[in-house]
This record gives sequence, C-alpha cells and structure tokens, in this order.
Amino acid sequence: MPKLQSKLPNVGNSIFTVMSRMAVNHGAINLSQGFPDFPVSDELIELISSAMRSGKNQYAPMAGLPELRVSVSSLIQRRYGYAPDPDLEVTVTAGATEALFASIMAIVQPDDEVLLFDPGYDSYAPAIRMAGGIPIHLKLKYPTYTIDWEEVGESITPKTRLIIINSPHNPTGSVLSNLDLQLLEDLALANELYVLSDEVYEHIVFDGKLHESVLRSPLLRERSIAVSSFGKTFHATGWKVGYLVAPESLSTEIRKVHQFLAFSVHTPSQVGLASFLKNPENYSSLSKMYQRKRDFFLQGIQSSRFRPIPCRGTYFQLIDYSAIDQRSDVEMATFMTQELGLASIPISVFYSDQTDHKVLRFCFAKEEETLSKAADILCKI
Ligand code: PMP
Ligand code: GLN
Repeated sequence: MPKLQSKLPNVGNSIFTVMSRMAVNHGAINLSQGFPDFPVSDELIELISSAMRSGKNQYAPMAGLPELRVSVSSLIQRRYGYAPDPDLEVTVTAGATEALFASIMAIVQPDDEVLLFDPGYDSYAPAIRMAGGIPIHLKLKYPTYTIDWEEVGESITPKTRLIIINSPHNPTGSVLSNLDLQLLEDLALANELYVLSDEVYEHIVFDGKLHESVLRSPLLRERSIAVSSFGKTFHATGWKVGYLVAPESLSTEIRKVHQFLAFSVHTPSQVGLASFLKNPENYSSLSKMYQRKRDFFLQGIQSSRFRPIPCRGTYFQLIDYSAIDQRSDVEMATFMTQELGLASIPISVFYSDQTDHKVLRFCFAKEEETLSKAADILCKI
C-alpha cells in the first residue's frame, strides 16, 4: 500500500458523533447533538411521499428544482425585502454543510486567509484547509459571545479573502445586531472581502428580535453567500436539503463545485418543499415554538446551581457550571452522560485552541417530557 498522507491529520470523529454514541451506550437523555425529537409535519411528509409515488424519483436539475428555487426566492422577498433571481442566484444543496463546503472551495485559493470565530461550527476550518487556505481564528468575547470588530479590522491582511459569520450562532445562541452587520459591511467593502453567512437558524430568533440577514443589505449581498437548511426549519435534520443564495458571478463558481460534489439533491424532497414553503405559516411560528421550549427548560433548571448564559436564537442553551464543579468541560460532559444519564456538548471543542470555560451546550429542540427529565437531573447536581 502506498503511504497515505492525511489532508486532515488532526480530525477525528466529530463531537456530535462521539456524544450521541455515548448517550446511546449509556441510555442517557441526549441533549448533545442538535436534532429535534418531535415529528415532521404530516402535510410535508405527504407532499414528499406523493412526489415519490407519482414518479418524481430521477435526478433533479443540478442547481435545484426550479419550483423550489422560486419558492426560496419568494421566501427571501417576504423576509428580507429582496428577491434573488431563482435561475442564477439560488442553488439547492445537500444540506447547509455542502453549501458551506462548495462555497469555500469555490472562493478560497491556496494561502488565502479566512477569518472565522471561536467558538464556531466544526465544518468551516476543515473546508478552508482542504481548499489550501489558512483559517485565522478570532475569539468571540466571553461571556456575551459578541464580535470584537476592532480586532477583526486589525486581523485583515492583503491575503484575507473571506470572513465567515454565523447568526443565530451555534453553539452559543448569540445573534448579530444591525450594527454588527453595518460594521461587517464597512470592513468587507473597504478590504474587498467575501462574506460567507451561515444562517441555518434564521427562523429561530427570540424575544421579538429580527434576524439580521446579509441579504437585507444591497451592498453586503453583492459579496455574500447566505446559507440555510430545511433540516433546521422543518425539524428534518436527516433529510440534508439546504440552499445557498449568492450573486450570479459567485453562484456560477459555486455551482461548478456543487456539480462535482453532489451534482443534485433528493428530488421528492424538493418537490414537497417547493409547495410547503409557499405557506409562510409553515416557518413563521418557529421562533415562538422554540422560545416556549427555551423558557420551559430555563424554568425547569431555575432552582439548580447551574447558570444559564442568555440564548437569543437557535435551539441551544449554554450553561455555566463553574459554581458546581471544577473539572474540564469534556470531563464534565462525559461524567454527566455516563453517571447521571444526561448528554450535552462541551463548549471547548468549538475552539481551535485550549480553553477552560466551564460551559456545556444543551439542545432544547425536544418534547417537554424530555426537557423535564433533563431539568430534573440538573436540579439534583
Ligand atoms: N451550520 C450550522 C451552524 C449548524 O448548526 C448546522 C447543523 N448541523 C449546519 C451548518 C449544517 O446543516 P445541515 O445539516 O443542513 O448540513
Ligand atoms: N449541527 C448539529 C449540532 O450542532 C450537528 C450536526 C452534525 O452532527 N454534524 O449539534
């Protein structure tokens, strides 16, 4: 056998795989990997299964089913006041993960620098490295998990090509404000940067706030890729259907990568989603539903010694345990899963370097019964 040189030598199984497996092995309540435990809409399932029964089972067009791209464009028009061209600017992808990977591959050249933030979602840095780029990790300010724009400005060099943002933010539940987007716009324009905006939780924003999409701003959207995921919006993370929106020149290049990475995406899902998306009620109640779950969970742990960190969006609640235990977050998450029957994600795995914050992430996209049981365990610690 020739010796294989790893392109990702420091990558093992993701923490989501590790913790979900540990939860199953120990019969623990699984609030680790982010996925809902309640059902997908019957109507959507019926739309997709009837598409299968009526023979919509062959390849979809490479860029996505035209009806779905039109529905996505109308959704964006309704939410952000701008209708991207469905033919040229909307591309359906195999989940947000593929959209992110294809975008990074299309934009990043060898030795380009890409700015991203810790803690952050795990797929960005490996994609940058696979493209030959250099991830430049900046830190969100602790404990508000906000961006230090001055530091961003100071970190830009002639090699900086791209900045990756994520709002609402996994794992912290923080959201970017209108001012954040303005500062981003100034920096992106002044330094000729592209912006990759991971907006998979765009419909899950709490306390009456608006989601600040890059698509709202005419100047930002000229240089941005916005990424979303039907898995998050319709509680169907296993379907892996998402999309990206980008100006024509960027979309053309990203589609070249998508063409050889996935080529096209599950046809019956696209048929069903195209028609389900036409009714805004199917996604506009999401914030309210998840806010109820967040508040239910917070109420449940109110009498515990854990300290929740405010969650403004997503379905993740961070909890600080520094008043209770001094072991590391990985040790604490492992102990709680194996000995107490409750699985979470240690926050340190979302950092590129060592961090000693005593913080765990709990997914509250769960039935109240599951959340109650989890809260009871936390109250006993
Ligand atoms: N970005 C973020 C911030 C996420 O939380 C997820 C969900 N795992 C993804 C991207 C990937 O989404 P998908 O499952 O549609 O690939
Ligand atoms: N996005 C999910 C989370 O943050 C997990 C996705 C995955 O397992 N790759 O928990």
